Amino acid sequence: MSNVLVIAETISHGATPATLELIAAAKVLAGDNGNVITAVTASSGSDHPQVPVDTLYVLDNDALGDSDSATFDAATDAFTALSINLKPDIILFPRDDRSSVVAPRLAFRLNAAFARECTGAERTADGIVVTRPVYGGNANARFRIPFGATCVITLRPGAFEPAANGTASDTRNFDVSESIRNSGSVLLRTVQEQQPGVRLEDAEIVVSGGRGLGGPEPFKLLGELAELLDGALGASRAACDAGWIDHSHQVGLTGKTVSPKLYLAFGISGASQHMAGCSSARNIVAVNTDPDASIFGDARFGVAGGWSKVLPAFISTIRDIS
Ligand SMILES: Cc1cc2nc3c(=O)[nH]c(=O)nc-3n(C[C@H](O)[C@H](O)[C@H](O)COP(=O)(O)OP(=O)(O)OC[C@H]3O[C@@H](n4cnc5c(N)ncnc54)[C@H](O)[C@@H]3O)c2cc1C
Repeated sequence: MSNVLVIAETISHGATPATLELIAAAKVLAGDNGNVITAVTASSGSDHPQVPVDTLYVLDNDALGDSDSATFDAATDAFTALSINLKPDIILFPRDDRSSVVAPRLAFRLNAAFARECTGAERTADGIVVTRPVYGGNANARFRIPFGATCVITLRPGAFEPAANGTASDTRNFDVSESIRNSGSVLLRTVQEQQPGVRLEDAEIVVSGGRGLGGPEPFKLLGELAELLDGALGASRAACDAGWIDHSHQVGLTGKTVSPKLYLAFGISGASQHMAGCSSARNIVAVNTDPDASIFGDARFGVAGGWSKVLPAFISTIRDIS
């Protein structure tokens, strides 16, 4: 059995889908009679976030703010203090901007093993085995962390079915006021990404476009379809680099990771770096003029044809049946 600490990410005082996945992962990794504890940061005096675990530690300090605006240095100090106190065997982080800075620093301070951007994690007889993409997403590597070694893991969304939402049975405050040092770095401002509708990372349906669309105009149609389906708009890096759509929509190795029930890809070839961001989608439907495009190898359904015929017809059919 292991003690697993989940660093939760919250939105509107509830656990994000990524955090619910981490909690599900933690239960698997803890093993029989293992222990799952969760920690969140909160700004002083704010309502405590709700997370479905037995024990929730709230790190309540002005230097931390809510989880989106916590300064990274303060968060590193706070999580280090909590980890030294609780001595978890495994610390799980979601894949987000804060974790990309805080998780490796925490691993260094705890002299722990660090596995980033994992797409899978399991408990075996010999230790914890994690899977992560390597060589630009062209291969997957498995690493074993033996029992007895502390490890810090950041997990990509889509690796586990999310745990059901709920509230913590026991919420405790953990005082970090003595642990946060004056680092000298100051958070000047946080710019909230403007995304009308559902967040790309949380969407159950993603409608995505690539270079095959030929320009920015078709993205309006894709946006229309995404709205009709209550989904979110995605794109390949080629389309973003061309300036046809903002980079905040980019899916892939250097973009966002999505794990929707349905991923509709129009004019996307299926390069490994793109698929690294959407391969955990339950169903991929591809529309591409090239019948040999590699995306058809990942797609459950495919149309070998031009987007300009398929997309308007698809939109009109959805309008007819909804
Ligand atoms: C380190 C690194 C990181 C990267 N990170 C990412 C990333 O995060 N995300 C990402 O997407 N890419 C990433 N890339 C780039 C990636 O390798 C590909 O270049 C990119 O995904 C290609 O985008 P695309 O499929 O839109 O374009 P293309 O590969 O050019 O494919 C366009 C497709 O459209 C089809 N097509 C053409 N006309 C039509 C039509 N009328 N109707 C329908 N289909 C049509 C073509 O047959 C073709 O298959 C990265 C690359 C590197 C090296």
